[in-house]
Amino acid sequence: MRYTDTNHFKKECGYEVNGVWMPRVTKILDIKAKPGLDIFFKEVGDYSSAEDIKNKSAEEGTKLHRAIQGLFTGSQDPIPEEVLPAVNAFQEFNAARKIELHPEFVERLIWSGRHHYAGTVDALAMVDGKFGVLDIKTSTGFWPEYNLQTAAYISALQEFEIKKTLSLPQDVQTRWILRIDQNKLCGRCGAMLREKGGRIKIRNSKSKIRNNFEFRNSNFVLCAESAHEWGELRGEVEIREFPYFYNDTKAFVAAKILWEWENGYWLRRVGYLQ
Ligand SMILES: [Zn+2]
Repeated sequence: MRYTDTNHFKKECGYEVNGVWMPRVTKILDIKAKPGLDIFFKEVGDYSSAEDIKNKSAEEGTKLHRAIQGLFTGSQDPIPEEVLPAVNAFQEFNAARKIELHPEFVERLIWSGRHHYAGTVDALAMVDGKFGVLDIKTSTGFWPEYNLQTAAYISALQEFEIKKTLSLPQDVQTRWILRIDQNKLCGRCGAMLREKGGRIKIRNSKSKIRNNFEFRNSNFVLCAESAHEWGELRGEVEIREFPYFYNDTKAFVAAKILWEWENGYWLRRVGYLQ
């Protein structure tokens, strides 16, 4: 991306923390190749439609984040209808799982005074008696870059200065990804339909169907493309802990050095680098 001036760069790439500008964790991670995203752009074919889908699906993701976070912060905002299946699925899931998001640490700006980066955590949460970083993702899987992102957050939150500034109730021990997605299943063959950013994607590989609980024991058929019988939109919720973050933290710091190298011109102009 080209920046028009230093203010544009600062706004696009970081946060001001107590008068000091710091690059944003997710921006730094742009430096890492994302093969999935390349494949997506290739599939869509033209760049501006792909950008469009990406932005729209980011908006949908934000809506779902707000709705889930709102359950814990006592928000009075109505839940948008399009994310209701996911929110309902989460509430059902959490009735048994009892994840607690700490309302005062939802969408919280955090930073590392030692490594000079900043970010916004989705939440700090209590899960199974442990306190840690909880990041919400609206995706079909747990992708490796999530681990770099959450490692950066944990590492920042373990610094003495920020523990004091945020008055953390206890040390941050671990991290979780809470994956929440919405899809429809075909009642005949078990294929899965997802719509994101206005784009419909159908997955019907045999192995996927075999792994799908509801269809594992049935004699499955493979539908022709127009023969699927889609069920109701349903939410899918899964939480996974990633307790080992030492290597991820190292990799994040390395990525940051590379990002700084790439953006050296602007970083010197804003006084971040000498
Ligand atoms: Zn089908």
